[in-house]
Amino acid sequence: MTSNSLVFRAHHKSRYSLAALLGAIEVDERFENLHIEAPVRGFNSVIANRLKHGHVIAAFSVMSTQVPRVRNEVQQIRKKYGNNVILVAGGPHSTARPRDALEMGFDFVVVGEGEYAFPALLGRILDEGDVSDIPGVVTTGTKNVPKPRDLMQVDLDLYPPFALGMNVVGPIEVTRGCPFRCKFCATPFLSGGIVRHRSIENIVHWLREAVMRSGFERAWLLSPNALCYGGRGAKPNPEKLEALLNRATSVDGLDQLYFGSFPSEVRPEFVNHSLLKMFRNYVANDSLQIGIQSGSNRVLQISNRHHTVEQGVDAVVCALQNGFTPHVDMIFGLPGESEKRLEKTLELCYELVEMGAKIHGHIFMPLPGSEFEHEPAGRLPEQVRSKLGDLSRRGMMTGSWYNQELLGKQLEEN
Ligand code: SF4
Repeated sequence: MTSNSLVFRAHHKSRYSLAALLGAIEVDERFENLHIEAPVRGFNSVIANRLKHGHVIAAFSVMSTQVPRVRNEVQQIRKKYGNNVILVAGGPHSTARPRDALEMGFDFVVVGEGEYAFPALLGRILDEGDVSDIPGVVTTGTKNVPKPRDLMQVDLDLYPPFALGMNVVGPIEVTRGCPFRCKFCATPFLSGGIVRHRSIENIVHWLREAVMRSGFERAWLLSPNALCYGGRGAKPNPEKLEALLNRATSVDGLDQLYFGSFPSEVRPEFVNHSLLKMFRNYVANDSLQIGIQSGSNRVLQISNRHHTVEQGVDAVVCALQNGFTPHVDMIFGLPGESEKRLEKTLELCYELVEMGAKIHGHIFMPLPGSEFEHEPAGRLPEQVRSKLGDLSRRGMMTGSWYNQELLGKQLEEN
């Protein structure tokens, strides 16, 4: 008997989107008989094995920094299996540069949020139907390639946050989209710039399910700005935020709730004593991830951050006073960062470390989809790299800053 397969290329960098997409598929009765796998290793042998049973659809979520690897893997698959495997791309890079994904060898590209478009595409492929009317699906025949803002925005409540059946889990995404337009960030483009929250009812429902079915004792909530929950994104909504935390931490069997620590973040100007005091009462994390990004007000202004360095420092002080260790995001090499401004950022890092914060360091990468996508990648003078190395060795700095210079250069060349 024929048994068609969906084989997802699992990678730790795209594990959250994998969990969300598999969640959307596993509750969709159209795919009851579809064999689904998401191997971390042995992707090609899984494909070879599944081809013995029926059609294989191989899906990749592609980040811009992964393009050389994905291109290579796609070429290998084509060489080995020709057109017997149907290749589908989604994720940030495919959304920002869908033609690039087609040129790599993919048959179909899903632009923007995948929860609706990806299952719709899967259904049509399996039925051998026409895909041209599925919003967000791009093929070589597509004339007008859509941008995420032109597409329907996904209602988070309509989809599970993860795939409990397959045990592919991650944080519960409680907020998607951001109303700010920081020029180094691709989030506003990728999410269409519209802020949406998963409802408290729905979050509690999935927490209960996760406790019951997967034995969750701890859970993470995910948001681009944890303190914006419940509002339109530009200002806090303390009542709604507390209602969420109150209900979520009351779920029987759940011992710890993490929010506002990596991979979530908070914007500095949202931080104040009353909000953090309330927050501290509920969350289990000792750290609070705060995005300051630069020690130069001019660089913040050029990047369209809409807060100052002083607001950043105030947020760090406030976090410390409320029992959090601030983990501060900093980006070195942003456009407009002169030697003097870079020096200010470094000085601020030392000052914050002295106060009790830790630094999460990044080097600017021109991400496709961000407003800075055509700017040169950040490059650091040797003496700055050695200072960052020193902070890292002392355990004061984390982050993948050391290889981002190279990744940024690769993006620049693409
Ligand atoms: S960096 Fe944060 S605040 Fe700025 S646009 Fe991106 S998600 Fe929004």
